[in-house]
Amino acid sequence: MSYENHRYVLMTVDPVHIGTGGMRLGRVDLSIVREPGTNLPKIPGTALHGAVRSYAAHRYGKPRCAGLGQTRDGRGGHCGRPTCPICYTFGYVGGEDTAQAHSGVVTLTDARILLFPVYSMVGPLWVTSPSTLEDFGAGSQTVDEGKAKWPKDLTSQQHLNLGWLMVEKEANLNVSNLNLPQKQAVRDRIVLISDKLFTHVVNSNLEVRTSVSLNPETGAAEEGALFTYEAIPRATFLWLDVIVDDHRGEFPNEERLKQWEQTLEDDDADAKKALLKSWRLLKPSDESDEQKLEEALQRAERWLREEKTQEQEQEKWRWKMSTMNGVEQTSGGIVAAGLEWAKDLGIGGMGTRGFGRVRKVAEV
Ligand SMILES: [Zn+2]
Repeated sequence: MSYENHRYVLMTVDPVHIGTGGMRLGRVDLSIVREPGTNLPKIPGTALHGAVRSYAAHRYGKPRCAGLGQTRDGRGGHCGRPTCPICYTFGYVGGEDTAQAHSGVVTLTDARILLFPVYSMVGPLWVTSPSTLEDFGAGSQTVDEGKAKWPKDLTSQQHLNLGWLMVEKEANLNVSNLNLPQKQAVRDRIVLISDKLFTHVVNSNLEVRTSVSLNPETGAAEEGALFTYEAIPRATFLWLDVIVDDHRGEFPNEERLKQWEQTLEDDDADAKKALLKSWRLLKPSDESDEQKLEEALQRAERWLREEKTQEQEQEKWRWKMSTMNGVEQTSGGIVAAGLEWAKDLGIGGMGTRGFGRVRKVAEV
């Protein structure tokens, strides 16, 4: 049993738009998801969970375990096996082998804005606010309503334009007091403004993009279907927590898979039965039924076999695939591995290339 909390800082590489209603083929839901209290845009944890699961499943070589699970007509579904690190980590719905659902062991919180980029006369700046810093755990700061604090060396001017808004300097900001993992080049350009002003500046500096509705049948642009929508701009820093609550403590790392394989090969009938029962392949009442036992054994062996892959006429554990290089064999490692691919493949949104890419810049 283990409990871990990983706090990640992400940076948007592209504009990111996650609509409140999700994404449908050929059209986009125009309203961006916002936090109810602050009205600040965010990336919902559910959207991150889906993207991270999908990339992790592809890296591990089990695309079947990538998506949403069972379809409404009962087809498809995750494998749902105790031998599958993807289903173990993210949970599963349906599948050929298990007619059940399980919630998994990880929770991804919403990704919230930490530092928001604004262009000014003195170059790019990143604005933030006292509550934003405090929620992240970067220390406590104060600033007067309508005023701003920035590092001494940023500019000798007493005023700064933040997009359309001019703010007056209240005092210097001592960035060494801020417990932030960002590079010095970014830290030296942080401007602290009040929570209220922060919401205002963020919402009036979102990227507005124009797109075209596509006809889902023909893929052609629909006439008069030009529309605009808002996105979180590139170079925004956000943070989220990945909580791993591994209550079962049975994560199928390579070592455990080998142990299970050994148990099935050994002559110890009791150990074998105990394993098959814990995997729900054998009912306690069927324990002395030779045929049922044999069937269960065969399925268990197939499960383990399918955690292997065939490469150059050689069988090897999926964990050994080149795509899994350097991935820590824990649920936390699986999440980090999925998140890593989001820097190239994005986290949904428009479903087009070059949109929604986010890069993990730090773990704190
Ligand atoms: Zn699976």
